[in-house]
Amino acid sequence: MISKKIILHFPNRMVDQPIIYLLSKEYDLVFNILLARIMPNEKGVMVAELSGEKENYDRGVEYLKRQGVIVQLLSKGVRRDDQRCTQCGICTSVCPTGALSIPDRKTMEVTFDVEKCVACSLCVDICPSKAMHVALNKSGELVLDELI
Ligand code: SF4
Ligand code: SF4
Repeated sequence: MISKKIILHFPNRMVDQPIIYLLSKEYDLVFNILLARIMPNEKGVMVAELSGEKENYDRGVEYLKRQGVIVQLLSKGVRRDDQRCTQCGICTSVCPTGALSIPDRKTMEVTFDVEKCVACSLCVDICPSKAMHVALNKSGELVLDELI
């Protein structure tokens, strides 16, 4: 059994397709949607946790790609620039998942656990040093050049 957080970028012709139902029914995968946005141009971006047997997971992802869906691991989409980060801690007050946190009150070091991140962008907006970066542009589309 594996579980991965992924970013799906749907072309507009697929926004109203029962993709999640098919993945569940045909590939026995569990789909936990963490974030979903339909853009004004009707393209869709979804951040989700996909779980199941590895073979089914691989087949399900291949199915999505064949349909024209861009599938990428979430961990590739969010970064912290440690050169810019001043360890001020402001981001920890808005991060909904605890991906940004201060686990040790003695050192007050702000840690970033990319596995917990759901790419909500709240830290990007609030960081005074512009240290957090989510590779989604303002329209919610993946900035592919930064992910490859
Ligand atoms: S808000 Fe920005 S500068 Fe402050 S700890 Fe978070 S990432 Fe670092
Ligand atoms: S994008 Fe930032 S605020 Fe949102 S979950 Fe990830 S680290 Fe936390």
